[in-house]
Amino acid sequence: MSRDETRKLIKDVVDTLKKESFRDEFTGNEKGEVFDSAAEIIKTTDKIIKSYIRVSRDNGTIERIPAYRVQHNNISGFYKGGIRFSSAVNEEEVENLAILMTIKNALHELPFGGAKGGVYVDPKNLSSRELNLVSKKYVQRLKPDLGPTNDIPAPDLGTNEKVIDWMVGEYKTITPGESYVNAFTGKSAVNGGVDGRREATGIGAFLSYYYLMDKWFKQADKAKATRPKSWKNLETLAQSDQPTKVAVQGFGNVGSIAAKEAIKCEDEHIVVAVSDEDVTLHNEKGLDIERLFSYSEQHRRLPHSEEELMEANVQAYIESPSAVLTSECDLLILAAVEDQITEENMKDVSAKILLEGANAPITKKADEYFESNGIMVIPDILANAGGVHVSYLEWMQSNVPKPYTKEDVITEMSEKMTDVCRRVYDHYFYSENYETSRMLCYKLAVMRLITLLYKHGK
Ligand code: GLU
Repeated sequence: MSRDETRKLIKDVVDTLKKESFRDEFTGNEKGEVFDSAAEIIKTTDKIIKSYIRVSRDNGTIERIPAYRVQHNNISGFYKGGIRFSSAVNEEEVENLAILMTIKNALHELPFGGAKGGVYVDPKNLSSRELNLVSKKYVQRLKPDLGPTNDIPAPDLGTNEKVIDWMVGEYKTITPGESYVNAFTGKSAVNGGVDGRREATGIGAFLSYYYLMDKWFKQADKAKATRPKSWKNLETLAQSDQPTKVAVQGFGNVGSIAAKEAIKCEDEHIVVAVSDEDVTLHNEKGLDIERLFSYSEQHRRLPHSEEELMEANVQAYIESPSAVLTSECDLLILAAVEDQITEENMKDVSAKILLEGANAPITKKADEYFESNGIMVIPDILANAGGVHVSYLEWMQSNVPKPYTKEDVITEMSEKMTDVCRRVYDHYFYSENYETSRMLCYKLAVMRLITLLYKHGK
């Protein structure tokens, strides 16, 4: 979904809320003014910072690179969101992702607002020295707008704990005497971070699907449910004695971990296709995910040729990178980048359920098409919040007597994700007044934001 589509969705959701009993909770609201101004506030971005950083390359040239931080809003708490390094970064993308962070944090009832950062650079083309320089310069440039009581960045696409550690180091150097520990989350464990962050988003994303199929759906009060169109497909899937076929787009932190989670539930799932930027690997009998994981840990990508498949000791057909989207499967996990399923290819998708591990991989038109054809979409703002839940734990770590272990982190994150999923699925299957699961998630988030605004004066 593009930024304008996200904004339109917020407006549509507020218009729906205006007509529901939720409206009666607010005094002085006879003509719906509260809702009109809420829509304006939630759609509008507080601050957009666009700057340039100068970086000396190893070949002696100096480059001027666009760098952004967008602070969408802080109704729920300090601005919070990742910084991505990617050659697709632009102002509109970063702003859209900042809005998604506001909605995600509100849906998950986290005490954070929404922000996002980006640097227009492909980290794969940078040496370690150059990457370190980009990270430090970003902090030097953005410092006046960051800080533990204002805006707290974290990793995102193309960044990791190493980048965050460099950023913390620079922040510390240029703000002597100021508190820096909670200026960033996603730090390495030895530097004040927590173990388990790397796995959290993939585990949380798979959980948002698995909890639905394995727990929620089996215990659903069928008499009470209004049964959206997707019910039938899900019921067939839940009752089938055949393993669920899973396809995963993207084999980075989110996709590879989600694929590993899938095969943990032995006999229940097989992963028939995985992809990265260059290939889809396909095997209808099931791919050896552990071996592919080991290969990609070593080479930072999937095997791309017959020889590399032999080296990885994996049997698979090599197909084009986009083939993963249309491969024969039940569950399609989208864990790459934005706008992957559009009006162009939506009708070629065979999956019965789609899971958004990445942010905004399905366009608005495609989203509506899937839901009206009984294909459930578990949206990004619900599914990929594992990372920011772990940020919350890291942020709170200074208040607990001893550091969290990896097991604590994954357990806490999973419990929080399960609670939010239960709340969403209960609404999705039991209430009549919404169109898509995404719209429902937006509705729950926007209700919280309006309540914070008008009842708590945020
Ligand atoms: N980049 C992650 C996200 O998009 C995590 C953000 C954070 O922890 O602040 O949810």
